[in-house]
Amino acid sequence: MGSDYNPLCYDRIGSISKDTMQSKVISILTAPGAPRYEGGEFADTLGRPLRDLRISVTDRCNFRCVYCMPRDVFGPDHAFLPHDELLSFEEIARVAAVFAGLGVKKIRLTGGEPLVRRDLHRLVGLLAQLPGIDLTLTTNGSLLAKHAKALKDAGLQRITVSLDSLDDKTFRAMNDAQYPVARVLDAIDVAAAAGLAPVKINMVVKRGVNDHQVVDMARHWRRTGHIVRFIEYMDVGSTNGWQMSEVVPAAEVVRRIGEHYPLETIDPAYPGEVAERWRYQDGAGEIGVISSVTQAFCRDCNRARLSTEGRLFTCLFAEGGHDLKTPLRGGASDAALRDQIVAIWRARGDRYSEIRTAETAKLRKVEMSYIGG
Ligand code: SAM
Ligand code: SF4
Ligand code: SF4
Repeated sequence: MGSDYNPLCYDRIGSISKDTMQSKVISILTAPGAPRYEGGEFADTLGRPLRDLRISVTDRCNFRCVYCMPRDVFGPDHAFLPHDELLSFEEIARVAAVFAGLGVKKIRLTGGEPLVRRDLHRLVGLLAQLPGIDLTLTTNGSLLAKHAKALKDAGLQRITVSLDSLDDKTFRAMNDAQYPVARVLDAIDVAAAAGLAPVKINMVVKRGVNDHQVVDMARHWRRTGHIVRFIEYMDVGSTNGWQMSEVVPAAEVVRRIGEHYPLETIDPAYPGEVAERWRYQDGAGEIGVISSVTQAFCRDCNRARLSTEGRLFTCLFAEGGHDLKTPLRGGASDAALRDQIVAIWRARGDRYSEIRTAETAKLRKVEMSYIGG
């Protein structure tokens, strides 16, 4: 155990779960008479600032990716959140403004599939008014061609499109919705033409399923200006049947691509950047690898996540979140919301990926489609 041992990092201490423990600390920090947030820098228990906010705008999706929303769990009988449980666009924009006032510099809209939420460009328009915020969105691309221009016009700066294979059969099997790859490729072109280039393209690599496509994917996007990011398959949620043997380490991805197109590392674009960046030595562009399983990056993790129904999560692998909707709808002032968020962040000790074991992988964690990737 290292000198930075923090009991809040552990999922269970005796019979008390980590989240219960964190809630106790937060209730002390927000109790009447507790010190209020007076402005200035603040950090969590491991010294990490709050800089990045991911907002899930829906828990619904028109795909059933095998690693995210397996169809046997998310079938016709699955109960998604009722509409009135979702934060409205105005509520999301208000919370986002509070986060921006606390030092958040980057906001990513996600889901579920964010573009299944009607009139999403309206939310983009509200968030684009926040000064100094880098505003992006992650989508499966199925509805992107239709909405790209409206999103750009509303102020969206960049976009990430998930694309797990260029081979139509493999792609359809992975999205499990019979969605053809050609339509996602067309949508990427439309988004780029609308001014959302360079597009980031996310490929989750699952051994024995699509890892044979890694080099083809790199080859396809070389010299286009777009950036492919190869993501290690993660044990998010508790429904995808994750096994370590299905993870292709990022180092293997880099080695396989490098055998065809020599690569060299590049410095991160900003502190806490999740993807490790590599560029082709022949000047054909760059790729990223996200090694959340084999080389955890919790040390620099400055991300918070706001769920569709207004719960704040301090880790992708959390078992539970903190309710912001009740105070939001109960008339809390911005200052009260600020105090609550700062208290939650100050009590944060998450570093799940650094302490992952075969046992933690089996814990009941929140689903990716609910919390947002
Ligand atoms: N529906 C949108 C999409 O697919 O881009 C946004 C939400 S999705 C949850 C966000 C990202 O998480 C996607 O790039 C997806 O591939 C990734 N993802 C989902 N489940 C994952 C898993 N088990 N391991 C690694 N990445 C995963
Ligand atoms: Fe839907 Fe995205 Fe999850 Fe696939 S990864 S099921 S597109 S939310
Ligand atoms: Fe951040 Fe949690 Fe992922 Fe670590 S495991 S990088 S703390 S979200």
